[in-house]
Amino acid sequence: MKSPQTSRLRLVGIVALYLGATAPLVCAVPCDSCGQAIRGDYFALSDSAYCSEDCLSAALPQCAACNRPMRGTMLRSATDTFCSRKCFNTSLPACELCGARSTVSVSIGDHVYCRQHGRAERCDSCRLPFVDGSHLNDGRNLCSTCKKAAVMSRDAAEKLFARAIRETTLVTGLASDSTPRLHLVGVDALTGGTAADSNSNSDMYESGRYYRHARKTIHKNLFGVTVKEKEQVTKSISILYGLAPDRFLATASHELTHDLLAEFYPRSTGAPAWLHEGICQYVAAEVCRRNQLSNAVARIATHNGAVYGNGFRYFMHRFGVKNWAGVDAFLRNTDLAELPETAPSHYAATN
Ligand SMILES: [Zn+2]
Ligand SMILES: [Zn+2]
Ligand SMILES: [Zn+2]
Ligand SMILES: [Zn+2]
Ligand SMILES: [Zn+2]
Repeated sequence: MKSPQTSRLRLVGIVALYLGATAPLVCAVPCDSCGQAIRGDYFALSDSAYCSEDCLSAALPQCAACNRPMRGTMLRSATDTFCSRKCFNTSLPACELCGARSTVSVSIGDHVYCRQHGRAERCDSCRLPFVDGSHLNDGRNLCSTCKKAAVMSRDAAEKLFARAIRETTLVTGLASDSTPRLHLVGVDALTGGTAADSNSNSDMYESGRYYRHARKTIHKNLFGVTVKEKEQVTKSISILYGLAPDRFLATASHELTHDLLAEFYPRSTGAPAWLHEGICQYVAAEVCRRNQLSNAVARIATHNGAVYGNGFRYFMHRFGVKNWAGVDAFLRNTDLAELPETAPSHYAATN
């Protein structure tokens, strides 16, 4: 989607206009501009005749940059004609970072850069080249714009996390008795847990993980008979620091949905990954839609991974928006063990 494209703007032709030397005329001809009869000297341009300098100027092509009538040599780009090199240069795209205009430019999505900045280091959040930015401890780069908005502090993260808990409950009608603990982590700490779509290019790194660990403690009496059995579950959610707020909210809602699946649909434990990730993305998209985060919704909908992307599209296609009731009935009534290992491929991304 955002792969760089190098485009070259160049002169496609140089057109010469010759101003005819004024010449005496025996019989009158009409001026090609104003129609008056011309006697005596006139201006000749190609096969046309003009009575005055003004009439000639009106007929001359105008420079696309300075609007002056052009005489003599003109420069032509693919779409426009210019009076001079200087005017031609103003038609070249300006680099978003340095403002330089050159005939060779690099475009990434809707953004245009000079050749040098097209190759500059990229921000791991917006994926665009940058000159002003920060290197995070885990090796990620954030441009200054993304850094300003990024969720860096525990405080900011907890606030958004609490909002994600409320929002997932509003979407699903479910609330877990015990909320997983939130950990803000670097990319290096996101290991274990559920595997992501490794071959997907929609996201350069995973942004969160849900961890659940159940430990059974059995108390026996002196005769070896079990008197008490207790299962202790520890749950936590790790989310990357430095995410944009909309991505944080989507990630938190996604991971919290893993928790709801584990708590309320224990039968889903053995279901294929695309079911889990698809449903978590479905809820995350609903949360983002409720909060008018259209970019985040689009990111989820166009994810090209076979697990997250196709999984999401399966549930979206089957149940449509605002239909947790449908997903709930599906989870209760479907033999989840019978589901295919991979999401049906006709739910692949179409973009
Ligand atoms: Zn005239
Ligand atoms: Zn000009
Ligand atoms: Zn530049
Ligand atoms: Zn950025
Ligand atoms: Zn997940």
